[in-house]
Amino acid sequence: MTQKIITVKMKEEFRTCPTCGYRDGFHSMFRQDGDTTKWLLICPSCHDAFDIGLTANRNGSSE
Ligand SMILES: [Zn+2]
Repeated sequence: MTQKIITVKMKEEFRTCPTCGYRDGFHSMFRQDGDTTKWLLICPSCHDAFDIGLTANRNGSSE
């Protein structure tokens, strides 16, 4: 199952879904990409996933 990730440029705010126009914000998901945890946003209406350049920082590894 591959989900396409749509990369968008962050403007003043990212609230409205570029795909379907849903206006009430996004769900979050996280995807490991090498040493980086990408923070992706999912539209609750059309379920497209967006990358606006956020990454999640995890403090302290288990090793
Ligand atoms: Zn949408």
